[in-house]
Amino acid sequence: MPSTISDLPRLGDWTSFEELAALQAARLPRTLEAAARSPFYRDPLSGGPPPLDALPITTKRDLRQAYPFGLLGVERSRLATYHESSGTAGQPTASYYTDDDWIDLAERFARKWIPIGPDDMFLVRTPYALMITGHLAHRAARMHGATVVPGDNRSLAMPYSRVIRVLHDLDVTLTWSMPAEALIWAAAARLAGLAPGSDFPALRALYVGGEPVTAARRARISRIWGVPVIEEYGSTETGSLAGECPAGHLHFWSDRAIPEIHRPDGTVVAEGSGQLVVTPLYREAMPLLRYNLEDAVELTYRDCGCGWHLPTIRVLGRAGAGHPVGRARITQNDLETLVFTLPDRLGVLFWRARAAHGELVVEIEVDEAHRAEAVGALTAAIRSVLEVDAVVRALVPGTLVPHATLTVNQDILKPRTLFGPDEDWDKAILYY
Ligand code: AMP
Ligand code: MG
Ligand code: ZN
Repeated sequence: MPSTISDLPRLGDWTSFEELAALQAARLPRTLEAAARSPFYRDPLSGGPPPLDALPITTKRDLRQAYPFGLLGVERSRLATYHESSGTAGQPTASYYTDDDWIDLAERFARKWIPIGPDDMFLVRTPYALMITGHLAHRAARMHGATVVPGDNRSLAMPYSRVIRVLHDLDVTLTWSMPAEALIWAAAARLAGLAPGSDFPALRALYVGGEPVTAARRARISRIWGVPVIEEYGSTETGSLAGECPAGHLHFWSDRAIPEIHRPDGTVVAEGSGQLVVTPLYREAMPLLRYNLEDAVELTYRDCGCGWHLPTIRVLGRAGAGHPVGRARITQNDLETLVFTLPDRLGVLFWRARAAHGELVVEIEVDEAHRAEAVGALTAAIRSVLEVDAVVRALVPGTLVPHATLTVNQDILKPRTLFGPDEDWDKAILYY
């Protein structure tokens, strides 16, 4: 079963959607074999391997009920890592991988049109604790010989001031973060007296993922940093599922996982709009068959200039749902697009909105000098595009993203129990 790196399909190994389907069909029996070794899939597969579309959908609820090891398909001693997905505080969703699984995971993440190489200085700025994301980027970068700077965004050891220092002083060439981070870095850089577009000349690309991002916000991040922003879509339970091609489209890695679409009427189809269902083809520790990620997506098979012959995916995630305001339904994506199409010179980076009691309130951070213009332009854009009369309020910069958060540079502490006369002994035991 081990998926050595030479077993794995590579971009360019197939030259049409038909060949892609043949590749999946050839692999599927081994995928089902691996699944039959897990307690969760033993029964449905006990009568021999059925066609994929005869199998039930595996839900997030199934995964929670199988916590921690109900989906284990190998001896526990063969596991390399254990993870839990974000946002599962009450009921954990476990994911685990062997070293062989990790080859497939890392290779998928590394599929970037501006690729990772030995000369790269790669800042990993996503969590390492429990989630897969930091480890995924770390492993992919190491696989390609890059130098990794582990800069976990949820660690107290890595405040924004350190991120800026590292980006600048180490000549970081590539970063991996949520898109939201790249905007916060821009503000932090400016507070440190650095210009994002010119004081970081080593930077080649920003890899982003983990949250929905509109074309407008992405383009804005790219203009601010002066480098391409390359998007990625995935999850802790699956690893990277889609990435961007040189023509700028997000493609689903169908050579490594079979995608299906769960439609609102309950049917499951090969393409179209609905919730994404995936069958990863190369994994052994935790096989998944027809797993519903519950992300709203649109999957289409059409030719693309990149020649990858992979379906195109648009990920709306949970940002596609929205809230009602009067007769309109306002989504985060709608508002984000309008905020980030405001002229760059108004400098609006941070905003929040609330739809409640039939009213839409939008707050933006904006300098005094551009207040009236920014508020006027956004109010007008919301009215004309979304047909809603919103209350747009200007906030003093530093209100949503406090400047102290961007400039604080605390030391990495270690525990101490003996203190001198002028020292704060409240820092004993719980020292951080
Ligand atoms: P986690 O399970 O904590 O690893 O987070 C995975 C989830 O993040 C996915 O199921 C999506 O809802 C969301 N996500 C990740 N990447 C993207 C993306 N590029 N666009 C939209 N949502 C994303
Ligand atoms: Mg998740
Ligand atoms: Zn393409």
